[in-house]
Amino acid sequence: MYIVQIASECAPAIKAGGLGDVVYGLSRELQLRGHCVELILPMYDCMRYDHIWGLHEAYRDLFVPWDGQAVHCAVFCGWVHGSLCFFIRPHSAENYFDRGHYYGARDDDMRFAFFSKAAIEFLHITNKRPDVIHCHDWQTGLIPVMLFEIYKYHGMGTQRVCYTIHNFKHQGISGINALRGTGLNNEAYYYQQDRLQDNFNHGAINFMKGGIVYSNFVNTVSPHHAWEARFTDISYGLSSTLEIHQNKFGGVLNGIDYEVWNPMLDKFIAHPYDIDTFDEKAKNKKDLQERLGLEVSNKPLVCFIGRLDEQKGVPLVHHSMYYSLGKGCQFVLLGSATEQRLNLKFWHEKNYLTTNKNIHLELGFNEELSHLIYAAADIIVVPSNYEPCGLTQMIGLRYGAVPVVRAVGGLVNTVFDWDYDPEHLPEERNGFVFNDPNEMGLESALGRAIDLYEKSPKLFRQLALQGMNYDYSWNHPGQQYVGIYDYIRYK
Ligand code: ADP
Repeated sequence: MYIVQIASECAPAIKAGGLGDVVYGLSRELQLRGHCVELILPMYDCMRYDHIWGLHEAYRDLFVPWDGQAVHCAVFCGWVHGSLCFFIRPHSAENYFDRGHYYGARDDDMRFAFFSKAAIEFLHITNKRPDVIHCHDWQTGLIPVMLFEIYKYHGMGTQRVCYTIHNFKHQGISGINALRGTGLNNEAYYYQQDRLQDNFNHGAINFMKGGIVYSNFVNTVSPHHAWEARFTDISYGLSSTLEIHQNKFGGVLNGIDYEVWNPMLDKFIAHPYDIDTFDEKAKNKKDLQERLGLEVSNKPLVCFIGRLDEQKGVPLVHHSMYYSLGKGCQFVLLGSATEQRLNLKFWHEKNYLTTNKNIHLELGFNEELSHLIYAAADIIVVPSNYEPCGLTQMIGLRYGAVPVVRAVGGLVNTVFDWDYDPEHLPEERNGFVFNDPNEMGLESALGRAIDLYEKSPKLFRQLALQGMNYDYSWNHPGQQYVGIYDYIRYK
């Protein structure tokens, strides 16, 4: 099959969170299965150029129809760790992708509407006719709309679209300008409830809703989150749209790339290990303690890695720091906050705790350090408010860090409580789970994890090894996506 992935991220060149990991990992898996995969991405000024091999101008004069005019773009081509990527670079006054960051600009809706238009125009002009176009998140929601309303009539009649929603919170709320820009000119037609009109704000259009309505198949990134999206308010107003399109909606659990996340092959860690050489993990713990200026000791090392965002349960992350210290543990936090209020809060904490030899807060995005922490930690906390899939608990499992998670979204599908899981045998359990989004809830699980480490180290070790035994690679999800692609091609 010929598959084109269109997204706003691809790790490690462009990574703000899990989306980048998923786009990269899925593409690699599809290639390993013998499919031809290409990616189309924005050419940001701030992406990691050191992870792109052989970058060169592949298409010099792409004129993208935009707002009744034509925007001159160049398309660059390069390989991100073996995956063939095309990068769209507009030469326009707006400097859409030269902002020093990936997201967070006031005109994000126009930036990614333009990217979507340029990506599909590139396919059209270069005669690329993939069997499946796989679009990700709100940034690419307008692609299926344009495909089936415009490009279908210009030689792209057989292409099918799979649309994956990684986070319902950001939907791409925009207005007439985005429609005019992309050439979806008949406003009254698109401003309808069964098309792009936002379910809350009838004066706005919603890119993600467009993606749901027009794609051939829509999925979110875990089965439990698919259920939550339909039957709770977690889909931020889109549950009625999902209800209408329920026959083409499902959940596919993400995988993690087992070549990138492999404690035996990880080039960032000094002491590789696997299940048979698990004792080496302690050396990585010592290395991290020395590097971060922590006391070198055998205390349980608890960590949090992730965006410091309301989604991630920030008050509980904060509580887990002090609770762990109170229970005689060490704590390492690696996180970045986009919201200024949270950024300041954690900088304040960092300054306050700076002389404490049992805690380290690293504020910012640091891929290399994240590997060192996964390899060193005994326990990883993921106390999210909601979590479409969550990768950090799966990476933690792979590195023998026992996850303590809240029972939401993909965390339900991946972590099974050591004491209470009703559906898994004791030898299949891999972590600790809590339900209530409050301090008592968190303590009920984190406390049990710490106690097991302190009082029954052999059992704790067994639990960590059981976690390492799980297969959360792309193997299984890769197979499911190929099944979906086949289904929409021949339906
Ligand atoms: P989300 O996509 O909601 O941000 P996920 O758990 O799905 O969360 O994926 C997070 C990914 O980003 C993981 O690979 C994690 O290691 C990485 N990550 C998150 N925050 C940081 C950070 N501050 N530094 C380095 N890596 C990070």
